[in-house]
Amino acid sequence: MFMESNKNSAEFDFLEADLVKATELFRDCVNIVVGKGNVDADILFVGEAPGRKEDELGEPFVGAAGKNLDKLLVNVGLSLGDIYVANILKCRPPENRDPTVEEIAHHTPWLLKQIREIRPKVVCSLGNYATKFFMAEGRVEDMKKMSGISEVHGVVREIEIGGLKIRLLPLFHPAAIIYNRTKLTPLWEADMEVVKREIFNNQCNSTIA
Ligand code: URA
Repeated sequence: MFMESNKNSAEFDFLEADLVKATELFRDCVNIVVGKGNVDADILFVGEAPGRKEDELGEPFVGAAGKNLDKLLVNVGLSLGDIYVANILKCRPPENRDPTVEEIAHHTPWLLKQIREIRPKVVCSLGNYATKFFMAEGRVEDMKKMSGISEVHGVVREIEIGGLKIRLLPLFHPAAIIYNRTKLTPLWEADMEVVKREIFNNQCNSTIA
């Protein structure tokens, strides 16, 4: 089935989209991959970048990593209705190579715009790039100084980013879990219990307040 590319959509006529469009990644990708899920959700998941399938369909987490994310969410009693999912980059890097500092700097203002609109209570960063971006509170040049996901997963920290205070919970990337299911799945599930506790506590606090 032929799908028209969304790259020239009139919807993407704002400053943060223009920054994305100024990168080579935009020139080379098929679609811009914005996000999916519930825009009123309390939990925002942030991955790294669209892969081939995501680029083709214009939706995040629809390939192998996405199928694993769906499974992992079902296992802990969550669905797409409970979360929103986006990425650090809005366009696929060729051959899924690692994002550069310049690309992250050009693509994340759009992510910050999404965060301001969704106002999530908890951000779950998936894997190293998203985690380092949030731990550096959006200062892309500081990302390399941040600890890796194996050291920080499952530990909640309060951060300030884009003028908002949010609770960050780093998680292993669902693609990494595919390659190391036996070891990483129980860690992911234990980390997700932390997310659920965070949300529950937040709901209790807002009822009391
Ligand atoms: N990996 C990501 O980080 N994001 C996607 O959308 C797909 C795979």
